[in-house]
Amino acid sequence: MTLRGLIWTAVAAAATMPLSAAGAPIKVITTDTNLADLARQVGGPRVAVESLSRANDDPHHIDPRPSMVVKLARADVFVRMGMDLDMWADALLDRCGNRKVQRGGKGYTDCSGAIKPREVPTGRLDPSLGDIHAFGNPHYLMDPGNGVAAAAAIAGALIRVDPGNRTEYESRLRSFREQIATAMKRWRAQLQPLKGTPIVIYHRNWVYFTARFGLREYATIEPKPGVPPSPGHIQNLIASMKRDGVRILLFETYRDRRYADRILSATGGRLVVAPIAVDAEPGVSSYFALFDCIVERLRSAGR
Ligand SMILES: [Zn+2]
Repeated sequence: MTLRGLIWTAVAAAATMPLSAAGAPIKVITTDTNLADLARQVGGPRVAVESLSRANDDPHHIDPRPSMVVKLARADVFVRMGMDLDMWADALLDRCGNRKVQRGGKGYTDCSGAIKPREVPTGRLDPSLGDIHAFGNPHYLMDPGNGVAAAAAIAGALIRVDPGNRTEYESRLRSFREQIATAMKRWRAQLQPLKGTPIVIYHRNWVYFTARFGLREYATIEPKPGVPPSPGHIQNLIASMKRDGVRILLFETYRDRRYADRILSATGGRLVVAPIAVDAEPGVSSYFALFDCIVERLRSAGR
């Protein structure tokens, strides 16, 4: 059967399911696991949340599957990162037949509308620039401050679809905001010794993180977004890292490490492998645990 055929079969199956009873949890579908945790933080026991992508998927390359259409067909709220990171979700939304979660619907939430994007391209975009993010850098949840903004957007959607429980969502959001403010002081203090330290990353997943905590992004291993480095690019990077005494490489958990190995064997630096998504590894089971993990690994590499 074709993908389209599979999707329609799946939608037809979903349509015959009984409607959820009054008092059943609000079904929230998110594009990624970070948003899923934010939805759980503000929704508490009122929500049943599921992410369409898995924690160790490269967020730039998600394969849409028919089962995702079924999930959207049954959802009350849909939460996405937006910009151009999850454009794969648009075809699924078109096919799910659920007005509530489509653009303009009560349960539709694009969290990028709640943050101030960085790196919005100003010039004309053309293919020679690589897979540049056309609406700015979409990896904004790597700044916990933006996590609060996204959580507020999600709370807004929950209130729209479930206005009777408004005060509960508002109070959970307040508490989340306070917990982030407390944790932020701790993370800042832990990263203080690394302030200004140059780090090499693979892709600009860390821009919001480095800006928030005062680290210095020295270079990216990919010469352009989505373009793998040539041997010449790696050689130049090794030479400049040696010249400038740059020692730390920061990679996402899902990233292939062979480039890092090549660079480290020549420069003698340290590789920090850290998750960028909730559930990417055991113990990283919340948005707080995610930053605890990243901060601790960077801190121990900086010693
Ligand atoms: Zn990206």
